[in-house]
Amino acid sequence: APVDDALLARRDAALAGVQEHYYGDPPRIERGWRVHLVDAGGRALLDMVNNVTAIGHAHPALTAAASRQLALLNTNSRFHYAAIADFAARLTALLPAPLEKVLLVNSGSEAVDLAIRVAQAATGRRGVVAVGEAYHGWTLASDAVSTSIADNPNAVGTRPDWVHVVDAPNAYRGRHRGEDARRYGPEAAAAIRALAADGRPPAAFLAEPFFGNAGGVALPDGYLAEVYAAVRESGGLAIADEVQVGLGRLGRWFWGFEQQGVVPDVVTVAKSLGNGFPLGAVITTAEVAAGFEAEGSFFSSSGGSPVSSVVGSTVLEVIASEGLQERARVVGDRLKAGLLALAERHAIIGAVHGEGLYLGLELVRDRATREPATAETAAICDRLLLLGVVMQPTGDHKNVLKIKPPLVLPEDAADVFVARLDEVLTTGW
Ligand code: PMP
Repeated sequence: APVDDALLARRDAALAGVQEHYYGDPPRIERGWRVHLVDAGGRALLDMVNNVTAIGHAHPALTAAASRQLALLNTNSRFHYAAIADFAARLTALLPAPLEKVLLVNSGSEAVDLAIRVAQAATGRRGVVAVGEAYHGWTLASDAVSTSIADNPNAVGTRPDWVHVVDAPNAYRGRHRGEDARRYGPEAAAAIRALAADGRPPAAFLAEPFFGNAGGVALPDGYLAEVYAAVRESGGLAIADEVQVGLGRLGRWFWGFEQQGVVPDVVTVAKSLGNGFPLGAVITTAEVAAGFEAEGSFFSSSGGSPVSSVVGSTVLEVIASEGLQERARVVGDRLKAGLLALAERHAIIGAVHGEGLYLGLELVRDRATREPATAETAAICDRLLLLGVVMQPTGDHKNVLKIKPPLVLPEDAADVFVARLDEVLTTGW
């Protein structure tokens, strides 16, 4: 369908310019169904980028449950109702011991912000160690630990003094590559020990357990074990940001931290948890939660409201009943195999990152220098849209295709994506 200029003008007139939309000439989206978005002209677009709608667009069970609850009762979370207790119990049941206490909020940014506050309160310290190339949110604290230059070019220089940044453990593009990437763990651990020796032991180390912002790059083996040990040694906590990677998307693992063989002290969850409905959570140990309680009270009007609790419970129920973690593994393996086959024929593909339906295709101008193919990646995304596929770049250099579709992606749709990408890479962009 042609771009709706009048609507775009209305959007631009009312919304702050910083609130961007995908594409220069964006399709106007009117409906969603499973793995497709439907534009105003009735054209179905395969949604390969949406890491929020994990159980698929417009899932009937979610629509029914949320509508029913909205018609019945919705209020702030200080009231006593069943939905919040059911949801909190269902969520903690998915986490290993001793992670058993939940705090409910409305977004990933809030969850990260709150996780930092909780860690600071429980330890009586301020410092947080974060990694480079990361994105954790837009609120003051979550933005302060977001180091990606792509999302916040002004972060460098404005970062508050309580944030300490260690190198991004990126085995493809970082300072240490390939096998050498094993050096990131000891280096980050040494930086934490140096802070402690300097009388500034941090409240926490915070990172995604599977590096999402860089395009789904796996952390080096043993990285989190090493860094968590160092932070705990000095009395600090380990925070895992599972906002993007958690809830089965990796296929082989339900949580990203499982891939690293560790259990964090604080976990943040959002995005998929609400399937597009605003919902976030912090899960921690009884001991850490008690440390936060000692600080005072916490209240979020809509965090854990009856409707958001029902939404969260329903999403978790669907992930389990439809075997979506297993689907992510099976379809993700097929998709990855297809992408690896493309890499043999197209020199622009520098690497295929990720696991399950958390994949990143890194595009480069030269495989030896790994020069990011930034303009090419944008052009490829535009061409894919013309062929009916929604795709966007990610990473500090915006040169990684962010392949994070709904977990209900069928095999044939995965094949369509690979075929369309092959077509674009073969015919040019
Ligand atoms: N953490 C991670 C790892 C994320 O990917 C995001 C969102 N991109 C956030 C936190 C922030 O979540 P939200 O946009 O819901 O505030």
